[in-house]
Amino acid sequence: MSKSSKIGMVSLGCPKALVDSERILTQLRTDGYEISPDYQGADVVIVNTCGFIDSAKAESLEAIGEALDANGRVIVTGCMGVNENDIRELHPQVLSVTGPQQYEAVVSAVHRHAPPPQEHDPFTSLVPPQGVKLTPRHYSYLKISEGCNHKCTFCIIPSMRGLLNSRPVGEVMGEAERLVKAGVQELLVISQDTSAYGVDLKYKLDFWDGRPIRTRMKELCDALGSLGVWVRLHYVYPYPHVDEIIPMMAEGRILPYLDIPFQHGSPRVLKQMKRPAAAENTLERISHWREICPELAIRSTFIVGFPGETDDDFEILLQFLREAKLDRVGCFRYSPVQGAAANSLPGAVPEALMDERWNRFMQTQAEISRNSLQRKVGSVQDVLIDILDNDIAIGRSKADAPEIDGIVQVQDGRGLAPGDLVRVKVESVDDYDLFGRIAD
Ligand code: SF4
Repeated sequence: MSKSSKIGMVSLGCPKALVDSERILTQLRTDGYEISPDYQGADVVIVNTCGFIDSAKAESLEAIGEALDANGRVIVTGCMGVNENDIRELHPQVLSVTGPQQYEAVVSAVHRHAPPPQEHDPFTSLVPPQGVKLTPRHYSYLKISEGCNHKCTFCIIPSMRGLLNSRPVGEVMGEAERLVKAGVQELLVISQDTSAYGVDLKYKLDFWDGRPIRTRMKELCDALGSLGVWVRLHYVYPYPHVDEIIPMMAEGRILPYLDIPFQHGSPRVLKQMKRPAAAENTLERISHWREICPELAIRSTFIVGFPGETDDDFEILLQFLREAKLDRVGCFRYSPVQGAAANSLPGAVPEALMDERWNRFMQTQAEISRNSLQRKVGSVQDVLIDILDNDIAIGRSKADAPEIDGIVQVQDGRGLAPGDLVRVKVESVDDYDLFGRIAD
């Protein structure tokens, strides 16, 4: 076989972008390319960019500059690719620029600038059946759809990634099965709006394992729940039909975990934001879910300082936090995104006031999180081990997603390995993390 071309990859941004990077690398491995762990060894470097907010764009431009300095042959793709002029203005020497999900265009750009080996046989090459994964072997993101049908005024994702485009459920389940066979213990379901899964396909009937199955969130969760691994749902909105999956959480078929980006608690601000499910009575819905599944952990993100947010709106938000008692919460100060409709809304909140609100928000939530973690002292938790640090094993409970939530430090973790599932007795907590020992 002729010498393979080597590809470097820099992957920025959210888990959805990471899945795009995995897909591109899987295709390139199938085509006979090798993956280079560093800039110097690569024939060409792909930079998968993020363009969600201005700071992410700046980071993407910096990463392109670094790859150009270190290697010189750079192909740009991903969300910032829609702003080709901005990229070319600063870095005119990039070889090619494509937008998000333009897998074929990126792969053909690579073929153009670093030709694939002539004698490569895709049927005998050793691409793992689960594809190339950039996450540790024991967990994996599972992207169920692209794009989004909503029009949140602070967001430009629909203009970057297009309208909702769900993958048929048979295809998603095929991928999930391959991942589980390859050793994955936890599947993290991602999309822009998991609760809308299948709407664009009119919940099309598909087939998996010889059985008919609808392309719909409930049926997908049911099927994933039969695989015997942790299944965690991200980016869910509090629509009434989400009620249907809470019993599956109570029965232990999927993890009792929901990542719901609420963004605000004031109906007036939510309306200005044009958030999905803003009209639903969210607090009532949460309390109903907890009655069915008391173990349910809810993680969320919020924005403070959205244009027009008044003192009253902010107090409503704090009250929402106190009543919702969410388990894990992130908070961002509003920052305008080029091209977003919210930029033209009146009532910009001054920076100092935004900072003050952000601090009050964080203080309020820290107390709530501390109390909810405190209640876990003395309990026994199932923990999936991620890494080892000498005698200590670091893992996550069912309430913790990788990267964004807390961790569990297992003090007597010697002998454990990443991917092990163990029962841990919680002995103490701090603001974010749990500390414990293997339960007898
Ligand atoms: S739901 Fe709103 S914030 Fe999320 S991707 Fe769609 S438009 Fe953007």
